[in-house]
Amino acid sequence: MLEVAEALATVLSHTKPLKTEVAALTTAALGQVLAVDILADLDSPPFAKVLRDGYAVRAADCAAPGAPLKVIEEVPAGKVPTKPVGAGDATRIFTGAPIPDGADAVVMQEDTRRAGDVVTITDSAVKPRQWVFAQGTEMKAGAVVLKAGTPINPAAFGVLASVGKTAVPAFPFPRVGVIATGDELIEANMKPKPGQIRNSNGPMLTALTVRGGGLPRYLGIARDDRAITRSLVAEGLEVSDVVLLCGGVSVGDYDLVPQVLTDLGVTTHFRQVLVKPGKPLLFGTGPKGQLVFGLPGNPASSFVGFELFVRPAIRILGGHAEPGPRTITLPTAEGIAESNDRPTYRPAQLVQGATGWTVRILPWGGAPDLAGLQPADALVALPAGDTRADPGTPVSVVLL
Ligand code: AMP
Ligand code: MG
Repeated sequence: MLEVAEALATVLSHTKPLKTEVAALTTAALGQVLAVDILADLDSPPFAKVLRDGYAVRAADCAAPGAPLKVIEEVPAGKVPTKPVGAGDATRIFTGAPIPDGADAVVMQEDTRRAGDVVTITDSAVKPRQWVFAQGTEMKAGAVVLKAGTPINPAAFGVLASVGKTAVPAFPFPRVGVIATGDELIEANMKPKPGQIRNSNGPMLTALTVRGGGLPRYLGIARDDRAITRSLVAEGLEVSDVVLLCGGVSVGDYDLVPQVLTDLGVTTHFRQVLVKPGKPLLFGTGPKGQLVFGLPGNPASSFVGFELFVRPAIRILGGHAEPGPRTITLPTAEGIAESNDRPTYRPAQLVQGATGWTVRILPWGGAPDLAGLQPADALVALPAGDTRADPGTPVSVVLL
């Protein structure tokens, strides 16, 4: 059986970034990845910009304490100075305005006294360039301001706007078709009859897809019937870059997914992973290179399988350089004493302690217990075998 790392390597060996498109820079593009370098069209700031409300002066004029200067004009942000600042002159100036010719420094208004058109500078340590943001300090025209591969985060939206971009070449969000399987499943708006349960994986996997950087499309519940499952999976393969099935991938008589996938021309690369929860986990590739995951039916297993294998694949398809998952080491908040027959991922929460962040394993009832997993913002990875750890012992933590 494949170890987690081998299984992830297998998935990623079949995963390549999608073809890029032009993305309009509405908030719908938040999290897409830039496909090209972005250059500044102008210097920023485009002029030497004043950083404080006060007076634009020649620093040399302020060397003597209490130097009086003649106020020659007033320039708020958005206006342009019309008079050069000569020896003994000052311009009343406001944050965001261009510095006038001749002036080389700004004195904060708190360090001045004004009487009529004379201002007295009470700060005798005025340095050239103080409170002036030189032209092109943030970016120079023609320079690369964002590199290809940069995720479009909120600050990137601002940078792109400042260089005049309203649309950019970017990797699309991978389209992820989500299919639940099982005769026992009904949707959330229905009341279960005996033997039935509500489909929790469908909504969970569509939400995980959004969080992971994919564009979900929920395709519904496939009954444990070969023809029905086949037609839904065929639809999934038609409209998705990634088909996400849950349930029906184990070895029971009603676990029809593996055979249906083979019938539809999907090549299966593995069917099990040495991991707890979530051992039955199928990965294959469709006739057009679509990625196909058969996640376990138990909700917590499905969740862990998504985080360990599906999310990294979505990230690579979407143009991210790093697939993740992000793993760090943190001290355990509480002692751990348990034995596992496989490498195990336990739902956990990051906790800010007196001396920094720690991680706390959540009380949890195992693979079917989604409510117990719900508060998790991390998974603690435990090796197979016995784990005995005192509070404060470093443990491996997968960030969600
Ligand atoms: P399976 O892998 O199909 O044998 O399912 C394993 C367990 O997970 C069974 O108890 C199923 O009822 C449950 N299960 C399967 N699919 C879902 C789903 N979409 N939502 C909630 N539970 C599910
Ligand atoms: Mg089933």
